[in-house]
Amino acid sequence: MASANSSPVLVLTGVPGAGKSTIAAHLSSLFGYSWLNIDYFRELKLSTDQIAERIRLENQKNPVIFECTGASYDFERILQRLKSLNCATFVVALRISREGAIKRLSQRTNNHQPKSGETWAEVLDWTLMRLSLVPADLDIPVEGELLETTAKRVNRYWEEAGLSSPSKNQIFELTQATSFTQLRKWHICGREFKFKYIENTLPTDELPLAVIIGTSIHQSLSWLFADEARSCSAFLDKFERCIDQPGITVDKSELLKTREMLEKFFDLEYRHSKTKTLRVDGAAELYLGDSFSLKGRYDRLSINPSGELEITEYKLRKPKSNLLPSIPSLIQPAAYAVSVMKEQSVERIFASIYFMEQQEKIRVLLDRDRAHSVLLAVLRWIQLLQSRGFRAQPGPNCSRCAYRSICEFSVASRSDTS
Ligand code: SF4
Repeated sequence: MASANSSPVLVLTGVPGAGKSTIAAHLSSLFGYSWLNIDYFRELKLSTDQIAERIRLENQKNPVIFECTGASYDFERILQRLKSLNCATFVVALRISREGAIKRLSQRTNNHQPKSGETWAEVLDWTLMRLSLVPADLDIPVEGELLETTAKRVNRYWEEAGLSSPSKNQIFELTQATSFTQLRKWHICGREFKFKYIENTLPTDELPLAVIIGTSIHQSLSWLFADEARSCSAFLDKFERCIDQPGITVDKSELLKTREMLEKFFDLEYRHSKTKTLRVDGAAELYLGDSFSLKGRYDRLSINPSGELEITEYKLRKPKSNLLPSIPSLIQPAAYAVSVMKEQSVERIFASIYFMEQQEKIRVLLDRDRAHSVLLAVLRWIQLLQSRGFRAQPGPNCSRCAYRSICEFSVASRSDTS
């Protein structure tokens, strides 16, 4: 007879080729878990509520693995419905590069092609864009890993998620206005967040050069976009004035590399831009409920020749794929875009993120329905951070941490702390 089960539902997400089905099949044959697939529910034409109800009922009897890319716009609604049914979830994102996924898909023997009639490359581009709006409890890089090894890791973390719940004093109550900066800090390391926002500890270490360069670039970009007719040399001078601070010495080759990157940015992005800047460094507030909101400042609000608005965030470079946990990169500009959408009473708005080093832009068009998915994603991200508590997450991030010399978990090298 089936017994009641209290495990969270394991939600396996990732692009086609990431190994979701193989991992789900492996775990379900090893441990007898129920394996449910979103495509099956779609064939039955079930509504969001019906999908959630089916999952909940099955999970009461037996631990469920729910396999879906995570890219559909009703994904957040399914998870929210499960939550309202008191059915917890544990979202695992299987991360693989576009090239790695294409290689795996081309090795499939049954010449499986996307149902939509698109190419795999097109499907992957769209899915990767959509997944950059989806927070996960756990990211697992699968590139070059044996699927059995990944399956074991997934199973171990899933079991741990079923056992752990943060103690009361680990839960940070969000105040009326929380900022994205706070959430990002919390996401990267709960201990650093606690040092800064709970214990109010003053920074003990100097900011690393990369942070100083990043801030100077942001200041010069605000200056650049404030006028449509700046020259490249004036832009580079502005950057050098921003970075010229007492006690800061920037290595010549680093300075040269950054100048080259800014020159390219000027030529490729600024000079040929067909959009008109409406605001730089604008304030945004996203209301998440009666009691609290999320505040922040977006880099740029622009309008294209068809009259559509766009919020753009500029980042120095793409986060390294081995730097975990990754923050869904579009979530911040998308949240700002939803706030501006409401403020300006428009039906559609673009949200984008531009990685300067790679000269790469990820962009999503939000309508009212998709804006609601963004709100749910932000709320789920916050709940996910709350459930994690203030756990230290030592890693490459320690070398950029302002508390690295006093933190007992730091793995920053000696040269970083001296
Ligand atoms: S040194 Fe590392 S583990 Fe410690 S607070 Fe900073 S980022 Fe977290």
